[in-house]
Amino acid sequence: MTTDTTCLAPEKDPMGAAIRDYYSTGKAGRLRVFSSQFDEDEIPVAGLFRTYPEMPALEQKALQLAGGLILDVGAGSGCHTLALKEMGKDALPADISPLSVEVMRARGLDARLVNLFDPRLAGQFDTVLMLMNGSGVIGRLENIGAFFRRMKQLLAPGGCVLMDSSDLRYLFEDGDGSFAVDLAADYYGQVDFRMQYKNVKGDPFDWLYIDFGTLSLYASQYGFRAEKVQSGEHYDYLARLTLR
Ligand code: SAH
Repeated sequence: MTTDTTCLAPEKDPMGAAIRDYYSTGKAGRLRVFSSQFDEDEIPVAGLFRTYPEMPALEQKALQLAGGLILDVGAGSGCHTLALKEMGKDALPADISPLSVEVMRARGLDARLVNLFDPRLAGQFDTVLMLMNGSGVIGRLENIGAFFRRMKQLLAPGGCVLMDSSDLRYLFEDGDGSFAVDLAADYYGQVDFRMQYKNVKGDPFDWLYIDFGTLSLYASQYGFRAEKVQSGEHYDYLARLTLR
């Protein structure tokens, strides 16, 4: 199975539409999230414009550790790239959402409309930043080999990936702490999502949440070392991936 290398069509870009509304008017409607595995949820659009002091500690830590030429993958409104610039660091934001890229450009950023897995995104980056459950961009566990091969292409010698994720095991834990998950089924961190903003409906997409143990196992299989840099407040963590 190969990974998708395309970008979104503007009429199927609900998060981008929400980001654009919020940027141009200072408010936005509800950005709704649907999944076959969970109840309907919402992403607070103002939160996509968070500044450094408003960011969770894991994200602040990632921005402190990021250095050299930084690739901000799935950059959204550009919040992390803007915070990095204020810190005097050099970041390139990339996203598959045409409307988000339009907003980032309006915010003065040299944003690229490109998929992480598209070979036209080339360069040697000292830091590849993937934040807000950044492992999601991998999509499914079976894409993880393609992901590590892609990181080998994009990382400069001595470079690293800084990625946050969550272990979804708490969704499957019984009251006594035992873990009830069907081992014959797909990996429990694979989630399907669909978003909607006003009348803009996106296509369904896969989003990978990965526990640190599974991430380290695959990392070593593909020649990387995974370190847990910091744990968050609820089964979430920041990982650093470096080539061995
Ligand atoms: N990092 C931002 C946005 C997170 S939402 C923040 O923390 O606020 C995830 C973003 O990743 C979305 O903007 C989505 O369009 C983008 N994205 C998803 N898959 C991608 C891929 N394969 N390549 C690049 N960007 C991707």
